[in-house]
Amino acid sequence: MLEDLYPGLGSNPAGAARKIFQRWVNYEKDKQMGFTEEADQMKRLTRRMTACTACALRSNCDSVFYGDQHVRSNLMIVGSHPESEDMEHSQLFYGAAGRVLFETLELVGAVKVLVWDPLTYVLQEDGVFITTAVKCSPASGKHPHVNEIKACQRWLGQQIGIVKPRVIVAMGNTALATLTGRPLTTCRISRERGAMIVAPDKKTFIMPTWDPGYVVHRSEKGGSGGEMARNELLFDLKAAWRAACQVG
Ligand code: SF4
Repeated sequence: MLEDLYPGLGSNPAGAARKIFQRWVNYEKDKQMGFTEEADQMKRLTRRMTACTACALRSNCDSVFYGDQHVRSNLMIVGSHPESEDMEHSQLFYGAAGRVLFETLELVGAVKVLVWDPLTYVLQEDGVFITTAVKCSPASGKHPHVNEIKACQRWLGQQIGIVKPRVIVAMGNTALATLTGRPLTTCRISRERGAMIVAPDKKTFIMPTWDPGYVVHRSEKGGSGGEMARNELLFDLKAAWRAACQVG
């Protein structure tokens, strides 16, 4: 019954409760803003994603991660895929990478984090929709296979059609490949980050940048690489947020 009303809840009770609360708050706000139809479209889409068995990742995953934010957002953030700990807590970007992402978005002024632990409750100031290119989590420490990335591509396209963001941040090569339709092997975030490009639909801009998981990884290695990557992520998100607020 609950799963029918709020699809994709997962098996963690605290995470499911947080999702229900956040979706209810956002649904009410969407309704106030006149986006009830879009909210219903997103709910129907989530039901279809939850039932998807188009690739082998489904066998490892009891929850799809579609984003629990307002259905109309100026800025969309697209990570690669949910990690195992996201599955465990039924929340995207739950761990250290999420901390880096939300701290940076808060510095930019795009979100306000109300509670960090144990539940990260994020209030969007002006609409930021956070999701991933691949909706199901691969086994711990693994990356999605190129066939799995391709199989999942259609879902993100449909989400974009509902959210209609002005700017999409592609965090990492998988997100960039999914958003541009280019082969994964041709995507190099290290070379392409920081320069906004026009999306294939010619209506949206894409800002390629580091995956926050990479920033964490660089910081753990020591030296100045972690701080440099963090500053670059901040620089890129700031530019993306500014453009999302100004375009059109
Ligand atoms: Fe379907 Fe995507 Fe999950 Fe594969 S990863 S089963 S394509 S929702």
